[in-house]
Amino acid sequence: MREIILIKNGELVLKGLNRNTFEDILIKNMKKAIKELGEFTFTKSQSTIMVQSVDEDADLDEALEILKKVFGIAALSRAAVAEKDMNSIRNISEDYLREELSMAKTFKVEAKRSDKKFPLKSPEISRELGGFLLSKFNHLKVDVHNPDVTVTVEIRDNYAFIRGNNIKGAGGMPVGTSGRAAVLISGGIDSPVAAYMMAKRGIELVAVHFASPPFTTELAEKKVMELLKRVAKYSGPITTYVVPFTEIQQEIRKNCPEEYFTIIMRRYMMKISEIIALHQNCSALITGESLGQVASQTMYALACTDAASSLPVFRPCIGMDKDEIIRISRKIDTFETSILPYEDCCTVFTPKHPKTRAKLPDVEAAESSMNSEELIKKAVENARRSVVK
Ligand code: ATP
Ligand code: MG
Repeated sequence: MREIILIKNGELVLKGLNRNTFEDILIKNMKKAIKELGEFTFTKSQSTIMVQSVDEDADLDEALEILKKVFGIAALSRAAVAEKDMNSIRNISEDYLREELSMAKTFKVEAKRSDKKFPLKSPEISRELGGFLLSKFNHLKVDVHNPDVTVTVEIRDNYAFIRGNNIKGAGGMPVGTSGRAAVLISGGIDSPVAAYMMAKRGIELVAVHFASPPFTTELAEKKVMELLKRVAKYSGPITTYVVPFTEIQQEIRKNCPEEYFTIIMRRYMMKISEIIALHQNCSALITGESLGQVASQTMYALACTDAASSLPVFRPCIGMDKDEIIRISRKIDTFETSILPYEDCCTVFTPKHPKTRAKLPDVEAAESSMNSEELIKKAVENARRSVVK
């Protein structure tokens, strides 16, 4: 039996957006995501994309698992390919859906006929196939409103496709349709979630991580790479910069009042990230900040951090509680890695009494004795780049 994967687009029907471009980017992303499984062809047809494997023995289960994480897909399913006659449709449906229908109590058949020359009309196909399946699976009942299984038959130009229930896709928009942005990634829970959320809105990610050896270890950096690898299952490959941050932190400690340490450090992170972002054609920064979570994330502190860069800063976690963020991190499988105990550079020099109502002029005065330009230039020059996939 020949099988294909059917992809239902997500938000691509949005008004004013160029549907074709969106679909092309989605197809490119899908292609990249499953290219290691063999050769596939992608065919657009109405609001569906058909994914067909060229090799007979390609692993469709694996392909489906991978495609479940590709943004821009509302729903997907495997489908059996039948000849366009009722006999073939009946037999293949019985065979192909045996397991799914055996486990179900109720079902309905939905027929869609894009080939209007097919001798039966859609309601007739539904009635005919429904009756047949009832006769083969006697335990089943028809429920047109809330069935356990919806059997869908699509009569297309060359073949009929038969499938059971759809699987929910990752939703969102295809990565690359909203441009690029640089995410400031720590080893914590929030920033991988923030990265995932913005990739879901169609942003291609670049990542920037600040490391402070010897205060932070190689294990902390490995952890960040592991987190990015998990995010990359959704976002596609992530160009990643690891920026040496020790000297800047030490200079801050030497030159600035302790209560401003964190804010000034965050401002340096923004300045450096902006340079990398612009170099990488990014038009925004992303952080995992959440309002009020810590002293450096009050509205006053965020205003001071914002002022350090002229790029827009996206903070998708800003209005979320920690448990809401954790729920997403579990869903995308970053949580267990995030809670590994390695030190982040932020925790290395945490002030005892951070300023919560920092004012920008005071912060600027506090950092004014730093040799910023030189320090930033050096950090950017010594950043290490790699691609995480
Ligand atoms: P997370 O917010 O990811 O859970 P965290 O809570 O330890 O980590 P915060 O101190 O809350 O981090 O920092 C807020 C944000 O600043 C992070 O979400 C991240 O975007 C950025 N950030 C913090 N530390 C780093 C770092 N070492 N490298 C890059 N970005 C960082
Ligand atoms: Mg945080």
